[in-house]
Amino acid sequence: MNIKTLQNISNKKLFKVFAFWAACLSHLIPSFGKSKKYKNFLKTLYSVSSQKCIIRSNPISVRIAPINICNYECLFCEIHKDNLLFPDRPLNSIGLDTIKKYESFLSTTYKLYFCGGSAEPLLDKDFGKIVEYLKSRYNTKMGVNTNASALTKSLADIFVDNEFDSILASYHAGTSNGYEKLMGGNIKIVDENLKYLKERRQRSSKRKPQVQLNFALHKANADEYPFIIDKAKQLGAGEVILSRYYGGRNKLQDEQIAFDYDVKSGNELLDKIYKYAEDKGVKLIPTKPFYWVEKQQQWEPESFDACAKCILPWTNLYFDPVLDDKNCHYVGVCTRIKLFKIDYSKVDFSTQENFDLLWNHPVLQYLRSTVNSEKNINPVCKYCKNHTKEVLRNIDQNLYSRIRDNAVEEFFGQFRKNFTYNEAEGIEVLRDNPYSDQKFREKLSKLQEK
Ligand code: SF4
Ligand code: SF4
Repeated sequence: MNIKTLQNISNKKLFKVFAFWAACLSHLIPSFGKSKKYKNFLKTLYSVSSQKCIIRSNPISVRIAPINICNYECLFCEIHKDNLLFPDRPLNSIGLDTIKKYESFLSTTYKLYFCGGSAEPLLDKDFGKIVEYLKSRYNTKMGVNTNASALTKSLADIFVDNEFDSILASYHAGTSNGYEKLMGGNIKIVDENLKYLKERRQRSSKRKPQVQLNFALHKANADEYPFIIDKAKQLGAGEVILSRYYGGRNKLQDEQIAFDYDVKSGNELLDKIYKYAEDKGVKLIPTKPFYWVEKQQQWEPESFDACAKCILPWTNLYFDPVLDDKNCHYVGVCTRIKLFKIDYSKVDFSTQENFDLLWNHPVLQYLRSTVNSEKNINPVCKYCKNHTKEVLRNIDQNLYSRIRDNAVEEFFGQFRKNFTYNEAEGIEVLRDNPYSDQKFREKLSKLQEK
């Protein structure tokens, strides 16, 4: 069951009863080894249904950025901004020792996903060891978002032998020229790597890892779709994830390549892509076209879905890159707001007691108590549930960023007004968005003055 399904069923009337019995059943499941994650999953159902602020379950979905660098410079990626502002950034390549420090919650999580920011997870030198360790001890379900250029034969062998679960390969062009132009890499290397993985899987009669190709559609790669779909078949990718390109601080930001600017052409293209994939027998996700719709282009702060329920503060934990400090991660439960900066050379979350200092920290209690409140919803969740937000993102990036950054600052202001907390070694509660637009501009103008 994924988070989205859980989120949907958590709204159903019978869910509370189901979750209560799940919590009772969890007492019968042993608290060690590979069964720990099932016990935790049942406890999480109860946490989600009760919506308590202090909970006894651990996150069921964890995301970790294992490194801060990438070997590519895709035009649509924010890596150019990172390279400009943080040219000498620390690698923050986590080792098996860090994984062991995170063991209290990694041993209970249902799914661990490696990705984060503008970085290539497979460049982490301990990646294979981490997979072997977590699979052998806890059979953790794992996935990675990669450009697959560093998917060496030895890593592919580890993935197949340990039944690593899923690989999402960034594949935003299918021709050599298109790939080189957009992603700056050599598609032949990537294709060879994925071909080896497919053959190795077949030789071992294994179904895993399952491979998906990630294709974020925009005007600059619109002609690439037949090649991407053909390659999916050849390379043994079960599905192509067809997503929408969202703007950002990248090399294409001035080119208006998002189809939000041209809804009609975007939707006609979607029809062609789905027809082609059907003819070729390739599965697209989503299975039906997710059409663009002409929306109002005004920011309306009060236009938010007060009934939309979010369960992420009870289920998710993200460890995102810190680019200006070594041995650190920003930590939050979603992509909208980073709550903490933690120094993983100082914290030790190998024990549940220590991990609870983070997972049941007053800032998370504040988030849990306000995320689904109709009257007292916190500023960030109110912004997140706004109907006009996503369109604004593509048509006015500056305004979008400013509104988001203000909401984050207001969140921390309200938290500090209403809660007190004790400082804990290695855990810092943030005050604002560490990558806010304002900080970006200030740093940029300082660089330009030099
Ligand atoms: S491969 Fe991914 S992380 Fe690397 S530059 Fe491209 S989009 Fe960014
Ligand atoms: S900002 Fe709030 S509503 Fe949005 S995903 Fe995060 S926790 Fe959920």
